Amino acid sequence: MAIESLAALTEAGKHEDLFDVIVRSDCVDRGVTPGESIAQMTALYGAIRRAQEGYDAGLRSHSGMVGGDGARMRAYASSGRTICGEYIGSVLAQALEMGESNACMKCIVAAPTAGSCGVLPAVLLPYQQREGLSDTEMVPAMYVAGAIGQVIAQKASIAGAAGGCQAEIGTASAMGAAALCYLAGGSAEAVCHAAAMAIKSLLGLVCDPIAGLVEVPCVKRNAAGAMIAMSSADLALAGIRSAVPPDEVIDAMREVGDKMDVSLRETGLGGMAATPFGQAVSEKMNSTEP
Ligand code: SF4
Repeated sequence: MAIESLAALTEAGKHEDLFDVIVRSDCVDRGVTPGESIAQMTALYGAIRRAQEGYDAGLRSHSGMVGGDGARMRAYASSGRTICGEYIGSVLAQALEMGESNACMKCIVAAPTAGSCGVLPAVLLPYQQREGLSDTEMVPAMYVAGAIGQVIAQKASIAGAAGGCQAEIGTASAMGAAALCYLAGGSAEAVCHAAAMAIKSLLGLVCDPIAGLVEVPCVKRNAAGAMIAMSSADLALAGIRSAVPPDEVIDAMREVGDKMDVSLRETGLGGMAATPFGQAVSEKMNSTEP
């Protein structure tokens, strides 16, 4: 049976490891065996790794607005001059690289969407490297991230057109926060509160892509979403909890999305898209369309 709430996930996690709970749920949902389920998730993690390896700093997006920033950030991260330190610098670089790869039509893993594909790799890949974990050891965290995304999709939305960017970057950040919290040994309750704190931090974020392209502000929002994921995981691991119950946080996210004006839901009409710069790019792109 599908996991329907964070309360249910927390309860199930009191008696069993979340990994086992979620694998079993996936098997029932999709009619697969545990072996098939885990093989598919392992392949998905491998696809994230290949996407990382396939980053090309020389590529530019359709509009020309996006490309090369991931490499810029990676070089800066190892310069010894960063404000946030080398590790966080590598997280930021990873988020930008994956977002740029998507904008440049490279193969990525939508998690939960293409526009927000940079958050989960950004928090997982540097953590894996730092902790010396194998891909097999990372797979359970992918399940935890997936379960959080599934609950949000059921209770609210994971589409910018329906719920604004809070539904895309917000969900990705919640998935990343939960995955990190789990990897670092957090309880099921801590995992769900990490997700909730990430959502709260990005509540109300509008979807406003310039010219309707998943480029600006999308790519850099992946970096911001990764930072929120990391801070939310650490808050939860420190024993801090969301004052609002996690499921109520998701309900609030749905309500905010429902109230969001249509110009702020992936129509390319509001927010960054409506700035003079955004309008100029849009006009240029329209005039160059065949
Ligand atoms: S601004 Fe819209 S298109 Fe861009 S990442 Fe956010 S939800 Fe996706």
